[in-house]
Parts: sequence; C-alpha cells; structure tokens
Amino acid sequence: MENFDVAVIGAGAAGMMCAAVAGQRGLRVVLIDHATRLAEKIRISGGGRCNFTNRDAGPANYLSDNPRFCRSALARYTPQDFVALVKRHRIAFHEKHKGQLFCDASSEQIIDMLVAECEAGRVQWRRPVQVHEVRRGASFSISTSAGEIEARALVVATGGLSIPKIGATDFAYALARQFGLEIVEPRPALVPLTFTTSGWDPFAALSGLALEASVSTGAGKSRGEFLEDLLLTHRGLSGPAILQISSFWSLGQPLNIDLLPAFDAVEWLLAAKPGSKKQLVTQLSEKLPGRLAETWAQVHGVTPQTRLADLPDRQIRALGEGLNRWTITPAGTEGWRKAEVTGGGVSTSELSSASLEAKRVPGLHFIGEAVDVTGWLGGYNFQWAWASAVAAAQALAER
Ligand code: FAD
Repeated sequence: MENFDVAVIGAGAAGMMCAAVAGQRGLRVVLIDHATRLAEKIRISGGGRCNFTNRDAGPANYLSDNPRFCRSALARYTPQDFVALVKRHRIAFHEKHKGQLFCDASSEQIIDMLVAECEAGRVQWRRPVQVHEVRRGASFSISTSAGEIEARALVVATGGLSIPKIGATDFAYALARQFGLEIVEPRPALVPLTFTTSGWDPFAALSGLALEASVSTGAGKSRGEFLEDLLLTHRGLSGPAILQISSFWSLGQPLNIDLLPAFDAVEWLLAAKPGSKKQLVTQLSEKLPGRLAETWAQVHGVTPQTRLADLPDRQIRALGEGLNRWTITPAGTEGWRKAEVTGGGVSTSELSSASLEAKRVPGLHFIGEAVDVTGWLGGYNFQWAWASAVAAAQALAER
C-alpha cells in the first residue's frame, strides 16, 4: 500500500497541470493513466501544433447548464498565465486567427513542458496502469493493476468520450454515478454534421469545397451564431463554422446558413437582371465558388444554360433568398469518432466552482473535459483544462 496526499487519475492536459501545481505546492502526488502513449490528445491537437489557449478566452466562450460556473477558475488562471508558462519554457508560438495561440514547432513541446513541471513537483507516475476500483473511507483507496494506492484526495481528470481509439473512457461519469452525482448527458460536440443521403445528394459531389459563411441555430440563451469557414463533405457539413455550431445544435433543430454574409443576394440579382446576357451560373460565380453556383442553380430547377434575364423575378427571389437563408436540418453528427470534445459531463451543480470539489463528497474533485463545461473551437478547451486544474490544485494545497 502506498500513501499520497493526492491521486490524480488521467494524465492528459488537466491531470498533468493539476499534478504539477499540487506537487510544486508541496503535496505528495501520484498521477495514474491507462494509456501507453502519454497525452495523445495534446499530441494530435491543433493539427499537431496544439492551439494551447486563446488570448481572449472568457466565460462567454463556454457552454454549460450553468454558464456562470467557469468564471471563478477562468478568472484565477488566465490565458496570460499559461502564456507566461510557455515563455518560461522557451516554446516559440504564434497567433493564427481570432486570438488562437499555436506552437511554432510541435505540440510535443507542450507535453514536454507539462512533464517537466510534474518532475519539478516530484509527481510519481503510474502508467500504463489500469484503475479497477475506487473506495472511500477515511481516505480514497484506489485499486490498480500496479497495486493499492491510498490518497487523502482524488482528482478525476479522465476527460470525455471523444476519439475512443486513443483511450477515451467513461471513467469520470461512472465514478460520479458511483458517488451519486448527477451527470449532464454527454454528447459529441465540435463535430461535423450529417444529412440524409437523399437530402444531401446534390451537394455530395462538392465534397472538399470551402467558403466563408454565417451559420446559426437555436433561440434565446441557447442560440449560437458563427462567421467562419464552412466545408462541404460527402456526408454533410464540416469546417470551423459547423464545428462551432454543432455544440449548440440538437436533433431536429434546423441550421440557418447565410452563404453570402452581409450581402443582399436578391437585391444584387434583381439589379443585374435587366438587359443581362449572362447565364445565371456565371452571375452567381462572381460571388460563389463555380461548382456551388452550378449546384445551387440545379437544385432550384435552373439549367446551367439559363440566362439571368430569362428568369422570372419570383424564381430569382427564391434562389437569392435561399443564399442568404439556407435552412437545412441535419440528420445527425459524425459521432464520438470525429468529435473534438464532449458536451455535458459531471453536473456543475454538484461541484464547487472555486475548487472543483464535489459538494457531497469531500476530497473528490473533477476537472477538465469531464465536467459539464465545453469550450468553443479555438484553444478554449485547453484553457478550461489548465484553469480548472489549477483551481483544484490550489484548493488542495490550501487545505
Ligand atoms: P484529456 O486530455 O482527454 O486526458 C484524459 C486522460 O485520461 C488521457 O490521458 C486518458 O488516457 C486518461 N484516461 C481516460 N480514461 C482513463 C481510465 N479509465 N483510467 C486511467 N486513465 C484514463 N482543444 C484546444 O483547446 N485546442 C486544440 O487545438 C484542440 N485540438 C483538438 C484536436 C482533436 C483532434 C481533439 C480530439 C481535441 C482537441 N482539443 C483541442 C480538445 C482538447 O484536446 C481537450 O479538451 C483536452 O485535452 C481535455 O483535457 P482533459 O485533461 O480533460 O482530457
């Protein structure tokens, strides 16, 4: 039997950060993970360059049943704090787009940095090690494939369900249920959306085509709207605009897509009509990718040869209004295999926002993606992992 102040289960982004900070504050910490490769999600993140934070991350960039929950942790460990850590480790980085910060070289540098921080905190590693059972008496007894571990506090940082092939499990939810804690039903988020074969048929051939569009869904507090790139795929829609909106979308809800944002398509087409010798498709191609212009005409019953001047205003209106208000209802998502993150998770109503400790189970903390806090695309999810990890570690050190 080994004794520790803190056992952290899950050596991903949140788990390593929490173990490092708690260790550096003088606590004896053990960090347990079942995967053979360390922090695979960090490795594959940001196309291999890890979009490790967003300069402008704030509570408004997160979804949760309680949108205010993330405030405390995010305020106490900011993107600037993480940037200072990255600079201390001399990792070169750049801003790509809308405050998104990426490593110049490789996401491996972030993993190396976290490992070095854990070493500085004398964290003891147990990996690859399976956790068989957790029991709670005066402290937490964790039975593992490497023997029994006893710890005064337990931090669960096992993440969500996305990308099962690199080791995602439902450990956090199962443990929360074991202790009677409520779960907000997990759902794939930041995920491509799919359509029925018949509905998508005309557009499937445009797979690979991208354009900037404004996409919105929902109403009231659960409304989302993003102006980003949209990517057409064989089975539906992807690209940043769709990944973002997917977190707001639920089954049965339509998406509203403006393919020509900040531009009135009907007014433009009607103004161009008198005396025009152009085919409709040629006219549309001035503003849209040519292949999309052709398909758009076809789905509105207009042959490629038809001239703009020969179309009735009524038909031009329908076609143009559709460009600014394309309303389509996805049939589903590409699921856990393709989802970048998990929406839902351990309910924030069960946790203290200051320490991430379960209110009804003293000493048990949940951090990172396991919690019902889901960031937008763009470095926000890592920022939540770092901030929630530091909040838990500081609370443990101050106890
Ligand atoms: P994870 O990093 O997933 O770590 C969980 C750890 O727990 C893993 O090491 C896992 O092996 C371990 N574990 C799981 N189950 C068990 C178990 N039963 N026993 C023991 N150990 C277990 N976010 C960004 O902000 N920027 C990006 O650029 C970005 N890119 C991404 C790209 C992809 C393809 C994906 C899938 C996600 C991306 N994300 C990005 C999201 C980000 O990776 C996650 O939000 C973040 O890693 C969550 O941190 P976490 O520590 O909570 O969980």
